[in-house]
Amino acid sequence: MPIPGSGLAKGLAVTLRTMTKKTVTAQYPDVQPELPPRSRGVIGLFEENCTVCMLCARECPDWCIYIDSHKETVPAAAPGGRERSRNVLDRFAIDFSLCMYCGICIEVCPFDALFWSPEFEYAETDIHELTHERDKLREWMWTVPEPPALDAKAEEPKEIAAARKAAEKAAEKAAAEAAAAAAEAQAQEEQQ
Ligand code: SF4
Ligand code: SF4
Repeated sequence: MPIPGSGLAKGLAVTLRTMTKKTVTAQYPDVQPELPPRSRGVIGLFEENCTVCMLCARECPDWCIYIDSHKETVPAAAPGGRERSRNVLDRFAIDFSLCMYCGICIEVCPFDALFWSPEFEYAETDIHELTHERDKLREWMWTVPEPPALDAKAEEPKEIAAARKAAEKAAEKAAAEAAAAAAEAQAQEEQQ
């Protein structure tokens, strides 16, 4: 038979335990939450990098990326050269009412034009307004956090290694030319 009042004592113990614990209630929207750096909020577009290759739109499992473009002719860089044509972006929109945040578009973009932003305050009362156009996607680009620093022991990225080697080669060439010029000047001085 339960001791009279034991239920009350148990209840009070739970209350006391809870009162002394740190509260986990988030005071949003008065206090912004601290999100993990790789949070998937929205997708930002860095349109300068976009070549309108259409890979993201083709790979999106929800077909919720809409891209329009037109071709422009770029005149030859030098006389006698060949004209080139390039794609110019007219529209880039993502329908976030369909997007399932899989990240495939970001993974497949070969030109680093799409990024995850932790921004999450884009609720709308009308579902049609969840299709966001390039201006909005560009605005979100500025909320993308910086990539984490490389591991100190990580292999040097190929692009940086190639750029460093090219710079070293150019510096060696310049030093050799300067040394040759100095030697020639000295030889001329000795002849006089
Ligand atoms: S995150 Fe996935 S579903 Fe959303 S736009 Fe990119 S590919 Fe499509
Ligand atoms: S995959 Fe990248 S470069 Fe190609 S259209 Fe999409 S955003 Fe632009």
